[in-house]
Amino acid sequence: MTNRAHTPNGHGTEGLLYEEPTLFEQSAKGRKGICLGKADVPEMKMGEEFGSLVRDKAPDLPELAEVDVVRHFTRLSIQNYSKDLGFYPLGSCTMKHNPRIANKAAAMPGFTDTHPYQPADSVQGNLELCYELENMLAKISGMDSVTLWPAAGSHGELTGMLMIRAYHTSKGNPRSKVLIPDSAHGTNPASAAICHYKVQSIKSGPDGLLDPSAVEEAMDEEVAAIMITNPNTLGIFEENFKKVADIVHSKGGLVYLDGANLNALMGYVKPGEIGADVMHFNLHKTFGTPHGGGGPGAGPVGVVKELSPFLPLPRINKNEDHYNISYNSDTSIGRINTFFGNFAVLVRAYTYIRELGATGLKEATEMAVLNANYIRARLSGTFNLPYDKPVLHECVFNDKIQNEFGVKTLDIAKRLMDYGFHPPTVYFPLIVSGAIMIEPTETECKSILDDFCDAMIAIAKECEKDPDLVKTAPHHPFRRRIDEVKAAKEMCLKD
Ligand SMILES: *Cc1c(COP(=O)(O)O)cnc(C)c1O
Repeated sequence: MTNRAHTPNGHGTEGLLYEEPTLFEQSAKGRKGICLGKADVPEMKMGEEFGSLVRDKAPDLPELAEVDVVRHFTRLSIQNYSKDLGFYPLGSCTMKHNPRIANKAAAMPGFTDTHPYQPADSVQGNLELCYELENMLAKISGMDSVTLWPAAGSHGELTGMLMIRAYHTSKGNPRSKVLIPDSAHGTNPASAAICHYKVQSIKSGPDGLLDPSAVEEAMDEEVAAIMITNPNTLGIFEENFKKVADIVHSKGGLVYLDGANLNALMGYVKPGEIGADVMHFNLHKTFGTPHGGGGPGAGPVGVVKELSPFLPLPRINKNEDHYNISYNSDTSIGRINTFFGNFAVLVRAYTYIRELGATGLKEATEMAVLNANYIRARLSGTFNLPYDKPVLHECVFNDKIQNEFGVKTLDIAKRLMDYGFHPPTVYFPLIVSGAIMIEPTETECKSILDDFCDAMIAIAKECEKDPDLVKTAPHHPFRRRIDEVKAAKEMCLKD
């Protein structure tokens, strides 16, 4: 049994994973974590009292001392690779640094000790924060009103599509189709389909951009909306966004903007000013809240005036200096979450925006774009760029050059772990075969980007000289190639 408790803190370490036995493997008969005092009440026979509800044998739980348990969970906690340990270049995910001041604010007792059932009069500060955050997001995006309650970007999409459906229904016909470019994130078609829309895929042009003539051709009065990610999942700004929006609007359709990549636009482009009618914000991507491993996040949605009546409930209103919570609306799509959403995430985003201010947000955008283009420039030539043009916040390579030596994207990703780097996003977007999608985020300094690029270049050389070394990577972590689908295909919840 190995017992290496070692922090894989980024550069120069050997792999990201370390062996840890399960609690069952560590169990030793008779070992105890607690000592009970002598009972000061009469003993009773459980069987007589509760009959068949009582187990006839003790559950098969691991037997451990307190120190075993503490060490096990502490070791597991430091195996969890995170943004706080090193570079985390997952494209599309925007693994941002999380300023500690935002966590500090979210942990303030004034926020943590309030209860969602408290009357509005007693939580004026919380309501003010929500009201102000809605306004700040509206200002950043150029939308007219915002709801904060959706719990994630995908939940924001669902909320937005429900509003789009409600809007068209109020005009007499919910319409039947939604147009979605083939570069879109999978949540886009899923959200449209859940709202009973048929999804029509729009093929990207050879430059990776949305082609207005393809939209023109697909557009008719059965199209409820188009869902566009801008910058798109290739990291490229959709130059024809306004033109496409005009085409869709001319037939009464609406434009949904997937705002997951807003960190590349803040301070420069307001989606509301280029034709977006509805958009979501991923607070956990753009406004620095810890994410990964499934949340929690928050996916507020902004809309233009025409769609405001359909916003989910409750709404927070301001009357002179007093905030109140309104549940009254005949047109709203209703509630989409319990209480006030993931409130602590809202506090973090509010703090992040207040801390940076308008100038800081703009600088964050600039640095994100600079960092992505630096990586693109340093690795181009070594790795193939299927769409070779300047990008915004992320860049997408593929494995075309390395394929000649029999090496695939997955091998390169695994080999990066031997160099102490978390791999980037792979095999997404789907329109790029063997995609390697790198998003450095704005807080990484040049030396980290250089270390990462050096590792990528070294791996590219290995692909030529010793492809088997790469194809059998990772070599340093205790776990090598694991079967990534076995757990899903052969699920075993017993034992
Ligand atoms: C992350 C992402 C989503 C989904 O957002 P979640 O908050 O993960 O639900 C949707 N679209 C794009 C482009 C994304 O990057």
